[in-house]
Amino acid sequence: MSEEKSLNFIEEIIAKDLAEGKHASILTRFPPEPNGYLHIGHAKSICLNFGLANTFGGATNLRFDDTNPVTEDTEYVESIKADVRWLGFDWVKECYASDYFDQLYAFAIQLIEKGLAYVDDSSPEEIAAQKGTPTVPGIGNAYRERTVAENLELFKAMKDGKFEDGAKVLRAKIDLSSPNMHMRDPLLYRIKRAHHHRTGDAWCIYPMYDFAHGQSDAIENITHSICTLEFIPHRPLYDWGIEQLGLFPSKQYEFARLNMTYTVMSKRKLLQLVNEGHVASWDDPRMPTISGMRRRGYTPESIRDFCDRIGIAKRENIIDFSLLEFCVREHLNKIAQRRMVVTDPIKLVITNYDKGSEIVYSENNPEDPNGGVREVPFSNELWIQKDDFMEEPTKKYFRLGPGLMVRLKSAYIIKCNSFEKDAAGNITTVYATYFPESKSGSDTSGIHVKGTLHWVSAAHAVPVVLNEYDRLFNVEDVANAEGDFKEYINANSLSTITHAWAEPALTKDPKEARFQFLRKGYFYQDHASTSQQLVFNRTVTLKDTWAKEQKK
Ligand code: ATP
Ligand code: MG
Repeated sequence: MSEEKSLNFIEEIIAKDLAEGKHASILTRFPPEPNGYLHIGHAKSICLNFGLANTFGGATNLRFDDTNPVTEDTEYVESIKADVRWLGFDWVKECYASDYFDQLYAFAIQLIEKGLAYVDDSSPEEIAAQKGTPTVPGIGNAYRERTVAENLELFKAMKDGKFEDGAKVLRAKIDLSSPNMHMRDPLLYRIKRAHHHRTGDAWCIYPMYDFAHGQSDAIENITHSICTLEFIPHRPLYDWGIEQLGLFPSKQYEFARLNMTYTVMSKRKLLQLVNEGHVASWDDPRMPTISGMRRRGYTPESIRDFCDRIGIAKRENIIDFSLLEFCVREHLNKIAQRRMVVTDPIKLVITNYDKGSEIVYSENNPEDPNGGVREVPFSNELWIQKDDFMEEPTKKYFRLGPGLMVRLKSAYIIKCNSFEKDAAGNITTVYATYFPESKSGSDTSGIHVKGTLHWVSAAHAVPVVLNEYDRLFNVEDVANAEGDFKEYINANSLSTITHAWAEPALTKDPKEARFQFLRKGYFYQDHASTSQQLVFNRTVTLKDTWAKEQKK
């Protein structure tokens, strides 16, 4: 561990536990419920759990918290494994809460035998009413007085499918007047006939979160079980279960969940966006899912850097989405291959260029001394950006206009002489002459220009499609905005440029290469892209234009 970096509060606890010899080494776990795809909030939890293990020389289990068969699926299990690996982490053991169903059932029997659990026939409404309120103590019912023998028989009958779904529950017998509502005889098991993605139809009773999570931690000998703040009130119950069953003393610690501006971070809401067609899929590049960010071109390094920078907090807060984009930009600037792509093109004809065409060389990445150069074909007919030309240039306009000079990136300085318009008055062609001695790298022309334009040789250009993304929502704090969160969806979060011209190098670049399209942004090839139709997704803009937009 680096000396300069100060420890966060969980690292302090672990360092102390290790120093005191409480544990010889640490074991953490990442415990997703396989009911959706992972999002950036999960990435925070992954970086924390696996990061702690790395820092302290311990290990991490991947545990699927699959106790709710109705919403869970193998598709999600597979996506979660792929996402954790892609982020750069590996688990020592792949575990499933469902693998412990027999053990959990045996634990429940133990509690019943100790007089610490009972079968209750009350309806959910009756149970809720009898629980009281935080200021009014709960009241017991006749079922609470059932004998151990009766409870054992009824619980077994529950398991054997003798009762309807919801007809009975198993409850812990703790304290109906506890100020903590979770301690007022919480539910341990419910009857639910649902096909489980791993255990099939073997069970018709399923344990509740509070009778699976801590127990699973203890079964695996997890030393530090880290969860988010909303589980603080569950902690006494977590400890109670471990104590009453005499299990490995796993301990729960809580940190603030990650919230981010302009997006939502709950699987339930993300599922709605997918199911109702507001986005195309879980891995739609606008989604805050790990798979969406991967498809958009974010790198695992930048996501880990982001999680590192935000640190871990004990209080809820909301992190600016721009910080994540900053981290992405920082990394891509170092690794992205520079390429030229012209969107919204007009033709540039160089009237005194009579060589036909030639190859010029352009740096792949000025940030990388070993980045090398690539070949770019140059000719007398090029595509340039429409907005790089002005018919009547204003004073500080350093791009092209009648009589103005610019450099064509990695090639020559040119001077514009005339232009042509179509019937509708749109500029179609610009005519210029070039200075043969002004070639980049061997410029002896003595001419100084302020502007450099990107360009693509028309005869060599490759058509590409570009997807450009904006924020998925129009308000900063979506989760706390009034009304339905879907009212705040940004209708313009995706714009597609169907006719852009790219330099031919893109057809030879590997599919997983990261690009900076000069003056356009960072781009990454979409997984639907083919050699017949290249499609790129804009990962992030070159600068944080968003902050400026908001101030207008
Ligand atoms: P969601 O509300 O999005 O469905 P969840 O907490 O139900 O999230 P789980 O699959 O149960 O999702 O989460 C697995 C782990 O990831 C848990 O330890 C949980 O605390 C953590 N986690 C989930 N969301 C966040 C978040 N926004 N920030 C930090 N950790 C999170
Ligand atoms: Mg959960």
